[in-house]
Amino acid sequence: MRTSPSDLSLGPGASTGAPGPALPTALLIAEPAPGQDITPSAGDAVLRPIIDLPLQELRQTVAGMGEPEYRAVQVASWLYRSTATSFGEMTNVPKGLRQALSERFRFSALAIKEERIAADGETRKVVLQLPDGEQIESVLMRYPQRSDGTGADRATVCVSTQVGCPVKCAFCATGLMGFGRNLTSGEILEQALYFLRWSRRHPPVVRNVVFMGMGEPMLNYDATMAAVERLVHPAGAGLGVHRLTVSTSGWLPGITRLTHDPLAVRLAVSLHAPNDALRDQLVPLNRRYPVADLMAACREYQGVTGRRVTFEYTLLAGVNDSPGLALELVALLKGLDAHVNLIPMNPVSDLPFAPSPWPVVETFHDVLRERGIICTVRREMGRDIQAACGQLRAEVERRERRPGSRGARRGVEAPSIAGVASHG
Ligand code: SAH
Ligand code: SF4
Repeated sequence: MRTSPSDLSLGPGASTGAPGPALPTALLIAEPAPGQDITPSAGDAVLRPIIDLPLQELRQTVAGMGEPEYRAVQVASWLYRSTATSFGEMTNVPKGLRQALSERFRFSALAIKEERIAADGETRKVVLQLPDGEQIESVLMRYPQRSDGTGADRATVCVSTQVGCPVKCAFCATGLMGFGRNLTSGEILEQALYFLRWSRRHPPVVRNVVFMGMGEPMLNYDATMAAVERLVHPAGAGLGVHRLTVSTSGWLPGITRLTHDPLAVRLAVSLHAPNDALRDQLVPLNRRYPVADLMAACREYQGVTGRRVTFEYTLLAGVNDSPGLALELVALLKGLDAHVNLIPMNPVSDLPFAPSPWPVVETFHDVLRERGIICTVRREMGRDIQAACGQLRAEVERRERRPGSRGARRGVEAPSIAGVASHG
C-alpha cells in the first residue's frame, strides 16, 4: 500500500557526509570507499532487507517494538538521507531499537561485486550481488560543470529492475542473458541509494534516476513504482518526481497504468524504428504491441498527464539509421510533444550490430532537428567500462562461470512475454 506524505514526516537527524576527493581519471576497478561497503555479513543471509519495507510498514514495525512514531522517522532519515550503511551508525536512535532492528532485518539488499570507473572519471558502474546470488548492474553518470562555469552540474543514476530481461531486443546484452527474476522494490531503490550516498561525499549529489538498466520496468511495475514512491516521499529520499524516468520497450499495459498513476514520473519509450517491419526485428515485443498501438498509448499518456515523452533511438549502422527512416520518424511523431534521444550503439560481442558512423548520426540528427523535432545525441559514456545495459555483468559472469553457477545467463530459457503478462 502506498503512503501519503502525512504518514511519515521527515525529521531532523540525517547526516549528509562531507565532500570527498575528486575522482581519479584512470580506468580502474575501484574498492568501495570507506563507509560505502554495503556487503552484508554472513549472518544476514536469511533476514529481510529493511530497505524493502514500505514507509507505512516501517512505522508499524517500529511502533510494534514499543517506540514512538518519531523513531520511525529517524530510522527512515538514516536509511534514505544519510551516508550510513549500518544500524550502528544511527546515533540518535536508542541502542535497544537498533539492536531489535538488526535482529529482524539486514541493512542492505545488495553487496558490491565489482565497481569500475571510466577513464573520463565521470561514469561509474557497479555489479551488485543480490541475497540469492543473482547479479545486476547500475551506473552513475556525472555531468559536472566545466572549469569555465558552463555545462550542467548534475548526476544521474541508472538502475536495473529485473535480473536479465525477457524482451530480448536484438542488440542488447541484457536481452542475451535471458530472464532471471523481478527485483524487489528495495533492490531497485538501494541501487539509487548506493550512488546517492556516494554522491553526498562527491558532489554533484544525485537528483535524477532513470529506470534504464537491466530489465523491462513495466514488467515489474509494482516494485518499480514502490521504489519510486520511497525515492520521492518527503520521509524517503525526497527526490523530485519529475526527475525520475521510466523507460520501456513498449509494454502497453504498463504505459496505460503509468498514464493514470498518481506518481508523476516521466516516460521514455525505446522506439529504435518507426515502422513494424523493422521494429519487429529489433524489439520482439513489437509483434504483440505494434508501432501504431504504441504511439496511441503515448498520445494518451501525454493527453492525460501533459508530460513530454522521450523516445530513445539506438542507431545501428546500416539498419535503422537512414535519412528515409528519420523522415518516417518525423511523420510518426507529428503533433506529439516529443524529445528524441539518439543513442550511439554500444557494441556487444556476439551480436551482429555496429554503431553508426558519426556523419550518419549527424545527418539523422539534422533531418529531425530541421523539421522541428527536439533531438539530442546521448553522450557516449563509459564505453571503456562496458557501460551498455548488461555488458559488465555479462563480462563478470563469463569470467566466473562454472558448471552449476547461478543466475540468468545465455542459454537459460526466458519465460514468454505472455508468461509475465500479470506484472503489467
Ligand atoms: N527495458 C527498458 C529499459 C532498459 S534498456 C527499455 O528497453 O527501454 C535502456 C536503453 O538502453 C534502451 O533504450 C535500450 O534500447 C538501450 N540499449 C540496449 N542495448 C544497447 C546497446 N548495446 N547500445 C546502446 N543502447 C542500448
Ligand atoms: Fe530488455 Fe530493454 Fe534490453 Fe530490450 S533493451 S532486452 S527491453 S533491457
